[in-house]
Amino acid sequence: MRVYNFSAGPAVLPLEVLEKAQKELVSYGNSGMSVMEMSHRSKDYEAIIGEAEAKLRKIMEIPENYTVLFLQGGASLQFAMIPLNLFRNSNKADYIESGMFASKALKEAKKFGDVNVVASSKADNYSRIPDFSKEQFTQDADYFYICANNTIFGTKFNTFPDTGDVPLVADMSSCILSEKIDVSKFGLIYAGAQKNLGPAGVTLVIIRNDLLGFAKENVPTMLDYKVMAENDSMYNTPPTYGIYMLKLVFEWIEEKGGVSGIEKMNRDKAAILYDFLDRSSLFKGTAAKEDRSLMNVTFVTGDNEIDAKFVKAATAAGFVNLKGHRSVGGMRASIYNAMPIEGVKALVAFMEKFESEN
Ligand SMILES: *Cc1c(COP(=O)(O)O)cnc(C)c1O
Repeated sequence: MRVYNFSAGPAVLPLEVLEKAQKELVSYGNSGMSVMEMSHRSKDYEAIIGEAEAKLRKIMEIPENYTVLFLQGGASLQFAMIPLNLFRNSNKADYIESGMFASKALKEAKKFGDVNVVASSKADNYSRIPDFSKEQFTQDADYFYICANNTIFGTKFNTFPDTGDVPLVADMSSCILSEKIDVSKFGLIYAGAQKNLGPAGVTLVIIRNDLLGFAKENVPTMLDYKVMAENDSMYNTPPTYGIYMLKLVFEWIEEKGGVSGIEKMNRDKAAILYDFLDRSSLFKGTAAKEDRSLMNVTFVTGDNEIDAKFVKAATAAGFVNLKGHRSVGGMRASIYNAMPIEGVKALVAFMEKFESEN
């Protein structure tokens, strides 16, 4: 029996995708072998990685002048790869500190250049996206960095900063493909796969071509975007099976009406949960209303014991991984693309019942 899995990551995958992978697990097509057993240089595998990229380009409407990379090292390696590749003129970068992952990213960047923290919501335990204005931006920054969706705190940027000629870089690990975005507004977008794309082990990078080729000579070969771009993500063995799973997820998104179809479902799902939190007398949301995430819904009862009791009862009822991150406490329901609306409705019904009994 499958449970409703509200894990922040690795997270729920579409059942249809898992079933397709199961069907193809032992022998893919006419190959007589599993995708896991294939040479990454084989015709079959080249078709798989090619289709993965083509589908992503289609559903995300990625312009021609951007390169798609399938890398490893998780989102966290990008905290270092971004400064190592994008510091190229002034060696300055602007960062918005909107959560723990943004904070980790800026700490890493400080090892390689001058980091200006434009704004931070740390003092509010990152319960909102901090306010900032253009006057605070560094005119000659090499790039401007944001974390588009703050997985731990349940907030997101509803409008992206207008950084003019300074390339905007966004960590979209927990929101990629959750709603329509205009890729051309960004210099670089990246995402670890294990929230909205597939299994852990793949990191997706979408980079504007004019930003390739600035890694300094002492940057390790494996950390140079240009090397990875020139080799179609196959400078070395890529995470072959993970990329295959991404291909299945992209096909699934296409079947669901593309990103706009997925976005509509996500908005419906989030509204069901937030509307309940706003009328509940027991549970309340922890993120500022205007910055609420569509993907990670954080909430508390205000009483640690009742929170623990709720998480335990929910687990027993088949709603798992609802415990909040230790830095926020309480609960977090991650309702990524693959969480069906039925799961959210069932969770709210369970919360209503728990509320009436407590
Ligand atoms: C999960 C997450 C990360 C860290 O991802 P790893 O792949 O574990 O390095 C970074 N940023 C965001 C927004 C995340 O949600």
